[in-house]
Amino acid sequence: MTTASENGIVYDVAVIGAGPAGAQAAVSAAHQARHVLVLDAGPISHLKGRAFWSKSVQIEDAPVFEGVIGSHFMRALREWMATRPVREVTIGGRTRRTGIEYRPGYVLELQALDVEPTLFAMETSVEPLRGERPSKRTRFRARTVVVASGFDDVWPDIEVNEQAERLYQRYQTVFRFAGNRRGWHVCIRCDGHLHIDEHLAILALGDDAFGAARGAQDFTNKITILTNGRPHGLRAEDLATVQAQGIEIVETQIAAHIGQRTDLLGFRFADGTERYFDGFLVDEGLIPNTRYLDGWDVQTDEEGLLIVNDDRQVLTAAGEPVPGLFAAGDIVSGERNLIATAFALGQDAGLSATDSLREW
Ligand SMILES: Cc1cc2nc3c(=O)[nH]c(=O)nc-3n(C[C@H](O)[C@H](O)[C@H](O)COP(=O)(O)OP(=O)(O)OC[C@H]3O[C@@H](n4cnc5c(N)ncnc54)[C@H](O)[C@@H]3O)c2cc1C
Repeated sequence: MTTASENGIVYDVAVIGAGPAGAQAAVSAAHQARHVLVLDAGPISHLKGRAFWSKSVQIEDAPVFEGVIGSHFMRALREWMATRPVREVTIGGRTRRTGIEYRPGYVLELQALDVEPTLFAMETSVEPLRGERPSKRTRFRARTVVVASGFDDVWPDIEVNEQAERLYQRYQTVFRFAGNRRGWHVCIRCDGHLHIDEHLAILALGDDAFGAARGAQDFTNKITILTNGRPHGLRAEDLATVQAQGIEIVETQIAAHIGQRTDLLGFRFADGTERYFDGFLVDEGLIPNTRYLDGWDVQTDEEGLLIVNDDRQVLTAAGEPVPGLFAAGDIVSGERNLIATAFALGQDAGLSATDSLREW
């Protein structure tokens, strides 16, 4: 690991993450004549962003280009940001920079250097990480920060290689089927429409399983809850509802996927039986991408998502806004985890960050 060098610039707004929330925050702030830095871990780490993982399934419910799939969508967002390059403007005799500087960069640590006016530093790995270790590091500074780094879905614990260091290798078999039309889905609102009146398998426990089944009923009444060898964990009243709806619960451990190329067809269970389904939804929780906030006094919900106020400003545990720190997209607690929501939150956070920089 090398010591971080400083690039010398103090940006008006730094955005961490370049999914729909981060891209929109950056464009909205640049649109208000601010100098914006976007740090995006996607190109140099396994943290590609959730939009990327929709893979072969076309996004149909968001204001994006018709038929676009996840990885193309992420590229289109970068192209959109590139339409606002950095340039100098003179306002009332004062020259300043405006526009977006996009950098592949995995933010390792966020530090507050000053409060009045606010000043932040971001320790960032700007080259591909070796395993978990950063290589070349740069330190960026900004007056305000928008956190838009989203979260990672927890993938099912089936045929997982515990020894593998990298996420792809560990979940190689799961990833073969993840995000395909006939594969692992993580969002019933996004992909339920692909399985109208088809047999849907839901891998989840307790409240998550009940919530997923409730969502799935909009599309089908052929639902099986799989627990992969664990007790189902449903509350008594939810279990009664599930049973009344004819939803089957299978608590046998899953030994292996049964697939054909990138299509997932079913599972072989530990007792040797095989079951086949048309669609597969997993809800095993999430991992927030906020390690760079370790040690910060910020308020989170039980899943680790950030609590914000109406201006999208991050709150302390005591409920006070953290000066200069805003958040948008999936990382925000209590919002729908969807692309259009991420755009809306990104716009709010980008404009609020901009407003906070006004001098009179
Ligand atoms: C399989 C799948 C299918 C989906 N289908 C749909 C759909 O059809 N319609 C819909 O509306 N929604 C869909 N979604 C949900 C949608 O993708 C998310 O709600 C949306 O992408 C959230 O946007 P975001 O900008 O908050 O986060 P993300 O899109 O997750 O982007 C996060 C960004 O942060 C970066 N990042 C993470 N950590 C760091 C760090 N430490 N430093 C720097 N950068 C970092 C990542 O590289 C990425 O650029 C789907 C999600 C999945 C997984």
